Amino acid sequence: MQTQKKNLLGLNLHDLEELFLELGYKKFHAKQLLKWIHQRYETNIYNMTDLSKDLRDQLDLNSEVQMPHLISENTSKDGTIKWLFESGVGQAIEAVFIPESDRGTLCISSQVGCALDCSFCATGHQGFNRNLDVSEIIGQLCFANSRLPRRKTGLPAISNVVFMGMGEPLANYKNVIKAIEIMLSDYAYGLSRRRVTLSTSGIVPNIELLSDACNVSLAVSLHAPNDKLRDSLVPINKIHPISDLLDACWRYAEKHSNRYITFEYVMLENINDSMEHAQELSRLISNKPAKINLIPFNPFNGTKYKSSPIRQIKKFQMKLREKGIIVTTRKTRGDDIAAACGQLAGKVNNRVITRLGERKGKAVTLQ
Ligand code: SAH
Ligand code: SF4
Repeated sequence: MQTQKKNLLGLNLHDLEELFLELGYKKFHAKQLLKWIHQRYETNIYNMTDLSKDLRDQLDLNSEVQMPHLISENTSKDGTIKWLFESGVGQAIEAVFIPESDRGTLCISSQVGCALDCSFCATGHQGFNRNLDVSEIIGQLCFANSRLPRRKTGLPAISNVVFMGMGEPLANYKNVIKAIEIMLSDYAYGLSRRRVTLSTSGIVPNIELLSDACNVSLAVSLHAPNDKLRDSLVPINKIHPISDLLDACWRYAEKHSNRYITFEYVMLENINDSMEHAQELSRLISNKPAKINLIPFNPFNGTKYKSSPIRQIKKFQMKLREKGIIVTTRKTRGDDIAAACGQLAGKVNNRVITRLGERKGKAVTLQ
């Protein structure tokens, strides 16, 4: 029986050094290999000409460079591109490229579906199947850079990465951290920590772990200013309530030179968008290293919610500004191809047995 080859795409510097030592070669080859894969997007081991022929033969025996398999590509009228990648039989995940004049942002997925079941999220409605492995996470970035033309500066197309696609990144902690290491490595993408943003619905213990492992920019899906309302929108709040979440956020900020935490707040008509909500929200974060990003709700089939009207979003924003809070409203991109925030649904064979709270088994294993 033929054994499956190891996908070199998902190995960080340390893993590759170990691999070369095991093969009886010097570990500096790891840096060469990272450059071939993540800077030149080479998938054929035999084209890596600064590795000796013997070494390439050795590598080829048990390993390969396997990019994610593209199922479809859709381009929005605003230039946003959505890619659907195969992630197992009958399943798919999505990544979205958002071009802007001064940057190219890639929104990536970390899981096939999501178990956390936020009531306003299309991914949550799909249920959960599995965590993506490191090669599937970093593969979305490698694929995008290899597919898109370089920027005018000659740099690769992707300057910023946001973990805001399908899944909860902190529920796939180990694989996400390793993928981030590759993003930050000078031998791979060399992205600065400020240009990688991890968005989480608030898995508090893993925010603490992240703080020790790598200080990327942190975005937190708050969406409600009190526990009663947040329990109904973001069910993980029943396990990690707002006060614990905010404490972890302030510790994160403090540890990283008081870097601002972004709080995402989806604007749902008549649910969380009143002036009282704005007032309550301002009390939670005033005088803290925090900014608010209001997100107009992006609808999807079967949802009971509507986005707050633009004038209500503006009023909400003004109210927060009056209180001295830094607040922006996220521009909706790619909604004509269902690529906007929270619309990514891919194809998920749900394996979640029960709803959050009574959920058992793999679905809520927080690695
Ligand atoms: N699981 C992570 C990251 C993925 S979701 C998290 O929840 O933070 C990325 C952002 O889109 C989150 O702030 C999420 O709450 C928001 N979002 C989800 N569904 C949405 C929708 N239908 N409209 C607008 N934003 C949505
Ligand atoms: Fe999961 Fe984030 Fe969607 Fe909540 S908003 S269901 S955590 S992907």
